[in-house]
Amino acid sequence: MNQKLSKTAIISIDVETDWGGRLPASTETIRGVKVGLPKIFEILNQYQCPATLFINGEIVPYIQEEINISIQKKFEIGSHGFTHRKMPELSKDEIIKELAKSKAILEEYTGQKIRGFRAPQARIPEGLYQYLKQTNYEYDSSVFAGKMPSRFNNQNVPIEPYLQDNIWEIPVNSLPLIPLPMGLLWIDLFQLSLIQLLSSVSPLPPIVQVYMHPFDFIPAYSVEDLSIPWGAKVWYTRQQGSALKTLNCLLYWLQQLGYTFRTAGDVINSCSMS
Ligand SMILES: [Zn+2]
Repeated sequence: MNQKLSKTAIISIDVETDWGGRLPASTETIRGVKVGLPKIFEILNQYQCPATLFINGEIVPYIQEEINISIQKKFEIGSHGFTHRKMPELSKDEIIKELAKSKAILEEYTGQKIRGFRAPQARIPEGLYQYLKQTNYEYDSSVFAGKMPSRFNNQNVPIEPYLQDNIWEIPVNSLPLIPLPMGLLWIDLFQLSLIQLLSSVSPLPPIVQVYMHPFDFIPAYSVEDLSIPWGAKVWYTRQQGSALKTLNCLLYWLQQLGYTFRTAGDVINSCSMS
């Protein structure tokens, strides 16, 4: 393990439309970004914590202001695809288009090189790493440790970044003793105190990556004509007021444990050097 990377925490935010990216992009469907994201930024500020934002290409024209703020804060911006469609259901050409189009629009609006990618719903299509190489990405962060029925089943995921087909993969670790990835919503659902207790039996890995969504921080609103699986409905309509407090306490805890907050790209820089 690269010494520089021991006890590193990456805070990643998947930026998409509300209801898990299921709504078409418009000014009406990004309440999470408009209301929730500033609240996340406020908390990150308190801990001088940088973030990595994986942004959906199709909402970019609606969120120039939030992109500008992220650039000012020196946050990293990566791609979360152009649309939020399930990539394994797309053709090779469609996948390449998703990767290239999102990279192009993000580079246009940020004036920066887009290096990283995260697949919508962490659903990895076959050949992804080759397509990432083809479209000039440097790293991927779509491997979520743990299991979510029909989405992914990743047991024994490496605990540190690794190279696959010349693309770095920077996985999201699982919760201690719970086979689910380290998402803020899961931590909120199980309660941080339980996660802390379990981590005394099964300590957090040297590189921790937490993921969250801006809509995790706003009350869910009802939408017509949206077929949403029952499980997701329960997920999105739960009490959401506690997410902010959970994020605050989580960052405090990681800091107390001696973790340094870094962006995913920054971690990849250290990996490439070692
Ligand atoms: Zn997403």
